[in-house]
Amino acid sequence: MPEPGAGAQKPVRLTREQAATTEQAHLPQMMAGRKTVAGSIDPIGASPTVHTIQELLSLAQYARERGFQFYNPMQFDGDITLLMEQIDIMASLRDEYRIPQRIVLQVSDLGADLGKTIQRRTIIISSTAMRSDAATSAYLNADNALSSTSAIGIGVHEIGHLIAARYGEIGLDIARKTCYNITGEELDYFQTLDYLIDHVSDYSATRNPQATSPLFKPTHYHEIFPEVLAKHITNPDEFTAEFIRLLKEACNL
Ligand SMILES: [Zn+2]
Repeated sequence: MPEPGAGAQKPVRLTREQAATTEQAHLPQMMAGRKTVAGSIDPIGASPTVHTIQELLSLAQYARERGFQFYNPMQFDGDITLLMEQIDIMASLRDEYRIPQRIVLQVSDLGADLGKTIQRRTIIISSTAMRSDAATSAYLNADNALSSTSAIGIGVHEIGHLIAARYGEIGLDIARKTCYNITGEELDYFQTLDYLIDHVSDYSATRNPQATSPLFKPTHYHEIFPEVLAKHITNPDEFTAEFIRLLKEACNL
């Protein structure tokens, strides 16, 4: 998940021919030029809180009881209630979508980034994003970069990657069917990506930068499901509800 804000521009919309032949198709402009050195940037600016060891041990136990291995609880300097809420929603989605693996949770300084999933096992959430729900929400809502409207959407987005990886990267096909069911219009893949930018977020239409083939493949869009799920949990609408319904149907959930 990238950082929103910083005057993120709308992605450049390419023609179908351009998009099919370029590695940069629908890569949001906000990805360009952002600084990613951990510790160098705190885009949210909320103050840290010092907790007692007892409070942090209780927090680690809270995570453990919900099936998460909390990697670095003693470094937590955020809002304990907010992180507990984040853990609750992540646990509930993990169970709802039958994610079998034990997830390692880490809350660390990610610089300008907000969340990260490593090897389908470790979810890292930005420590600065967990300091104040109000400050993080204001940051998220400042532009169209990400779909989450509150801080817990960060962990929801990352759980979304585990779900998409488990059931296949079918987000673009599901989005297309969702558009048809809602609008009655048959959109092609590139019109569907534009629809996602307009109705979900700029980032939802990002092509996986690791995709090696220069040719268009609908499975190269890995941010669709995480972004739709994050919107569905923090700010649902008709599109997200129908998307989730179709996805669950396709995955026998
Ligand atoms: Zn992501």
